Amino acid sequence: MAQIGFVGLGNMGAPMARNLVKAGHGVTVFDLSAEAMGRVEGARPAASAAEAAAGADFVLTMLPAGRHVREAWLGAGGMAAAARPDAILLDCSTIDVATAREVAAATGRVFLDAPVSGGVMGAEAGTLTFMAGGPDEGFARAEPILRAMGRTVVHCGEAGAGQAAKACNNMLLAISMIGTCEAFVLAEKLGLSHEALFEVASKSSGQCWSLTTYCPVPGPVPGSPANRDYKPGFAAALMVKDLGLAQQAAGETGAATPMGARALELYRRFVEEGGAEADFSGIIRMLRAEAPT
Ligand code: NAD
Repeated sequence: MAQIGFVGLGNMGAPMARNLVKAGHGVTVFDLSAEAMGRVEGARPAASAAEAAAGADFVLTMLPAGRHVREAWLGAGGMAAAARPDAILLDCSTIDVATAREVAAATGRVFLDAPVSGGVMGAEAGTLTFMAGGPDEGFARAEPILRAMGRTVVHCGEAGAGQAAKACNNMLLAISMIGTCEAFVLAEKLGLSHEALFEVASKSSGQCWSLTTYCPVPGPVPGSPANRDYKPGFAAALMVKDLGLAQQAAGETGAATPMGARALELYRRFVEEGGAEADFSGIIRMLRAEAPT
């Protein structure tokens, strides 16, 4: 069993670290919040991020954004300097591709970006999807550790490829969700029932995950957040963050993403109008109230 340092015990990090303990690994944890430090029973508390990193075979971070990741790995008392030279370093946070590449290069170590999808429920159940970027050999060594926290683990390419996959996937998800909501709003105006639209579109060319798994109206998919007043799920504020990262990447690479840009505008407005904590499929409420353009 491996020795693992884990830094960042928030909504995602704490259940992920708990699954590593459950799998029998020796886990040393650190978080800036004293309250968060108590969230992982069976783990050894460290006094600093550097202490959590020292001596571990694998060192993981699960932090809010790129600046936290840069600071934790490369700042004064940083984890990269404290980690063993042969340790595998992983960042599972969702951050921008450029920072992921910069941090990986600056550590001078085997470093993987390995963001996740699956949310808090997936983190608790150990069913996350990991999308990883970094060298083959590092991925091969890290894969069993990631499998203790997730069901699907995909090696997407070199440094930054995991963050690139996450940004592209979530931009596509946002666009498909808005499209699905618009179809239901138009159906309502046309007097077409939700059930009839679902029955046809779920079996024809309009079929997509936003419709068949995460349907934004109550009824057709009983487990979707629409059936529980749009309680997340996946909070709209997090979708704004991910769409912002996709637009940053589009700006840096010169990719044309007009639908992604529009999805960001619409989700920003939804959040500003009080939807931050709602599931992202709740944007249908804003679209219903929208004046025609
Ligand atoms: P969170 O805000 O609940 O937790 C972040 C934790 O990091 C906090 O406990 C905070 O105290 C700690 N922290 C911040 N800076 C630190 C530092 N320098 N050293 C040690 N600890 C530090 O966030 P979360 O929901 O757990 O999300 C973490 C990452 O996962 C984010 O990048 C997020 O975008 C991504 N993500 C979240 C979800 C989700 O559903 N919550 C889903 C997929 C991906």
